[in-house]
Amino acid sequence: MHFHWGGLDLESSGSEHTIDGIRYVAELHIVHYNSDKYSNFSEASDKADGLAVLAFFYEVRFKVSVNETLQRYKPYTGQFTEIQPMDISTMLPDDLSDFYRYRGSLTTPPCFETITWTIFDTPIMLSSNQIRVLETSVLDWENKTLRNDYRHTQPVNDRVVEASFQPVLFKGSCHLETIHTKLDKIEGILNNFEANLESRQAGSEVSSHPAFHFSEESLASYVKIQTLGSMGLSSFTLCMWLRTRDFQPRILLSYATRDSDNELVISVGLDWGLWIGGHFANVPLHSSPNEWVHLCVTWTSQSGAAEMWNNGLSGRVNYIQKGYVLKPGGTLLLGKDQDGIEGMLSDAFIGDITTVNIWDYILSPWEIRNLMECRYRWKRGNIVGWGKSSATLFGGVKLEEDNSCLG
Ligand SMILES: [Zn+2]
Repeated sequence: MHFHWGGLDLESSGSEHTIDGIRYVAELHIVHYNSDKYSNFSEASDKADGLAVLAFFYEVRFKVSVNETLQRYKPYTGQFTEIQPMDISTMLPDDLSDFYRYRGSLTTPPCFETITWTIFDTPIMLSSNQIRVLETSVLDWENKTLRNDYRHTQPVNDRVVEASFQPVLFKGSCHLETIHTKLDKIEGILNNFEANLESRQAGSEVSSHPAFHFSEESLASYVKIQTLGSMGLSSFTLCMWLRTRDFQPRILLSYATRDSDNELVISVGLDWGLWIGGHFANVPLHSSPNEWVHLCVTWTSQSGAAEMWNNGLSGRVNYIQKGYVLKPGGTLLLGKDQDGIEGMLSDAFIGDITTVNIWDYILSPWEIRNLMECRYRWKRGNIVGWGKSSATLFGGVKLEEDNSCLG
């Protein structure tokens, strides 16, 4: 049993087989020899009916499990270990009914043409963290990290590839819509993958967490955040670092439900703006463009007190929406509001946003100050946790090195 993967220069693909030209993240090979006829692998390896390989693709599941614990082994050249017996079927997809089969070769020298290949159509889902471990744990003969250990696809020649099911083929010569759907899907995967690079490094070097850069050239760009818990909040603390480019009113964050566009919205400009359940409050702002600002907003339904903290200092307390509870089940975006009017992008955010966290309780002034002074860089929200909540980038959001705490 062995694997093929990518990982070189963040290459997010390393399977040896491709389907319709698409290379998967990684591939598992379970190699068998014909023990009815041959006594061992090497005896079978050059016989026409000697070997069979079951191949499985891996795909990234863009949901980082909080409880995921990954054991990391870094075996060096010449080390051996004994692996406890394990049930391989638990590592495989449930659905093994759809597969491709062809007669082919070993993908490593001596490349004997003796393999009956069976490639299963249903991929195995791994988290991006697990893929990361696969891509970075194995060392080569020189004790350097082994990457891109896959053979490039070879010509089909006159081989027949059979399928146990009716594969979805491109009808006619060129079905543009299908191709576009596929391209969109690939773009989504790439964007997700980039966003997840950050979470793959959770717990490691903090300075490697990227910031989201929203440029003037792509006003339609935004980031969708997957929350860790319900947004049906009766109090919260929301903190982030941001850097604006001008004094125009722009949307930093918007949370909208089906029937409430402004369920929770924070804007920046000459003032901070805050909407809760459609009600608005604003607080004068003292900061200048092109400088990192640490913003925290606290609100509690009990008194309706909303407080905005600008670089660790509290502004005026506003009282809005006493007794209100935020509606759950909505969508949380950075960089754009959700009033549904396409093309109305005059309030789209331009600048940088990083370290966005939301807690379902109110942090103390001391904690907020520590966050601002970067002593609490590791502290993560339980509703949105920077590096824990998955983020999907749309419309050209760029990832940049986060230097909010260096200035
Ligand atoms: Zn292989």
